[in-house]
Amino acid sequence: MKLAARVGRIAPSPTLAMAATAKAMAAQGIDVIDFSTGEPDFDTPEPVKAAAEAAIRAGFTKYTPSSGIDELRSAIIDKLRTELGLQYEKSQILVSCGAKHSLYNLAEALLEEGDEIIIPTPYWVSYSDQTLLNDAKAVLLPTREADGYAIRPDELQRLITRRTKAIIINSPCNPTGITYDRRMLEGVAALAERHDLLIISDEIYEKVLYDGASHVSIATLGPEIAARTVIINGVSKAYAMTGWRIGYAAGPKELIGAMANIQSQSTSNPCSISQKAAVAALRLGEPYTIKMVQEFALRRQAIVKGLNQISGVSCRMPAGAFYAFPNIGRMLGKTGPDGVIAHPQDLANYLLKHAHIAVVPGEPFGSQEHVRLSYATAMDTISRGLERLNGALRQLT
Ligand SMILES: *Cc1c(COP(=O)(O)O)cnc(C)c1O
Repeated sequence: MKLAARVGRIAPSPTLAMAATAKAMAAQGIDVIDFSTGEPDFDTPEPVKAAAEAAIRAGFTKYTPSSGIDELRSAIIDKLRTELGLQYEKSQILVSCGAKHSLYNLAEALLEEGDEIIIPTPYWVSYSDQTLLNDAKAVLLPTREADGYAIRPDELQRLITRRTKAIIINSPCNPTGITYDRRMLEGVAALAERHDLLIISDEIYEKVLYDGASHVSIATLGPEIAARTVIINGVSKAYAMTGWRIGYAAGPKELIGAMANIQSQSTSNPCSISQKAAVAALRLGEPYTIKMVQEFALRRQAIVKGLNQISGVSCRMPAGAFYAFPNIGRMLGKTGPDGVIAHPQDLANYLLKHAHIAVVPGEPFGSQEHVRLSYATAMDTISRGLERLNGALRQLT
């Protein structure tokens, strides 16, 4: 069978693949320490579950409007108004099967062959593959660990061409955990306005912040930039609801309308029950997430401190999200039982096979010298994992 060429351009999500391998090993009775999973280990809040149960009992189990129920779209509009001070109409909100699906609808609605999207590196893995799937080009903007992965406007400007359609902003960032401050975002916004570009602002970790860090949405910098920004968000991370598959996009009416048409011809509505659950989640608001983040904060301290105590590893303190992204560059070139560890992928393979530790290698995030460890896992797992990691890395010669 001859498959479409676009299939050959992408790989399965490496984070999901690593998580699946770790789970399969655990199912075989192997004591795997899993740092790969990109989801909160907390249970979905009770009121959310109750709302879903009530929806089932009430027979709310049929098709809904394809773009999402009014109640949920209103709750999203209220949230964006009260938390960000932004005004949206219903026609500017599209509820999809997770933020990943929102981003995919956006890529389909926006991109044509030869179009370019600028993605600051390191980046969340699906941005580039979704771009490639839609025949466009992912133009990577390198940043430097030494200055906190800051976007430098002059470097961004140099990548803008006639074919550039959008810039992706992900703050707080998966995998680096950095946040962009107002000044940096102003620099990006000025370029977007000057070159007539769309901003895709993935704000899924907006509430997962530490040490008093605050979230600035680029859309709040003024009406001109708001008009050319699509905010992508969802309930997966903030309310421990990754399996429920509810995300949303808020942006220009014409674009959201096109995305809604694509959705109506592809998936139709997101799960009716999950939509009711998402309404309940948004009603819980920040207090639920704050409690979860307090726990993440302790784990963040523990994992970053532990990583920095390992010889040859250095790890920045992330300001948001729930990932440590240690630099393992000094491990590269060493030798393990299967040969030279030349790339982060080799190190991840070594750790999984010989130490039963699952980490995600840096390559699919656009890094040649990092691995990603999620600390959305129990404190006990973190301490055991760090000890095991230290032992495994010492074995390399
Ligand atoms: C988890 C994640 C998403 C996707 O979340 P959904 O579960 O699809 O809502 C999007 N962007 C980033 C950066 C993520 O880490």
